[in-house]
Amino acid sequence: MVTRGWVLAIVNQKGGVGKTTTAVNLAAQLAVQGDEVLLIDADPQANATSGLGIAPHEPEHNLFEVLQEECLFEDAIISSGRPRLHLVPASIDLAGIDLLFATRIARETVLRSLLMPLRERYNWLIIDTPPSLGLLTINALVAADGLIVPLQCEYYALEGLSRLMQTVELVRQHLNPSLEIWKVVLTMHDPRTKLSEQVEAEVRKFFGAKVARTVIPRNVRIGEAPSFGQPVVEYDPRSRGAIAYKAFAQEVKEYGTSRSR
Ligand code: ADP
Ligand code: MG
Repeated sequence: MVTRGWVLAIVNQKGGVGKTTTAVNLAAQLAVQGDEVLLIDADPQANATSGLGIAPHEPEHNLFEVLQEECLFEDAIISSGRPRLHLVPASIDLAGIDLLFATRIARETVLRSLLMPLRERYNWLIIDTPPSLGLLTINALVAADGLIVPLQCEYYALEGLSRLMQTVELVRQHLNPSLEIWKVVLTMHDPRTKLSEQVEAEVRKFFGAKVARTVIPRNVRIGEAPSFGQPVVEYDPRSRGAIAYKAFAQEVKEYGTSRSR
């Protein structure tokens, strides 16, 4: 029996930092560990959708139609073909939302309102967001209880983050006072490089306890899994990548338990 699930948005307006990988693998791990999970693909590129092996043109309905109120949220939910793991697929039409929503009343809160009734049915509602701070990401920030911020272990990891933090602060002030960063997670970490170590130290200094203990290594299996339409836990459960995402999912779960309402 689910009481009221947590809505988590995976955000960072930079592309290629591991948002989708984290969204898919966190969702898959939580489902494997026994929770009911809804993964919501809010990126027009639909990488989370295809990462679960679903071709974006296949599903009858998608998040775009939900946001446009052309179909019900329930009707856009499909099974991922795995126990407890459900998906609301994306479609390329989402790229037009900023324009379409330009004159819409309460356009920042559309996703939150539509999502509300579903919170009773899932333990986790995980939103993958596009690499921008446009309306899709704002809607995710407004709908979310918590944020997961993946940071790639590279030289410019912290660049642009102050804009994200300002946006989060504005959303908190005006639209979603309880919004909180749950975890900053370092991705594509390579222990052989000094740079990865330096970035990790810098990020831990900046975000302190918000940084997940688990660091996601750069791992070929993680990179290969999406081309087979599989989360890495399925593609190669013994890989370092799968083990890291398992530990990360446990950390997220622990945090949720500590925040229990
Ligand atoms: P974003 O959603 O932020 O744009 P992705 O999750 O799509 O980023 O990751 C960008 C690319 O890096 C993808 O090709 C993905 O498969 C790969 N990738 C992500 N995390 C890892 C990792 N830990 N090890 C190896 N490759 C990774
Ligand atoms: Mg992505």
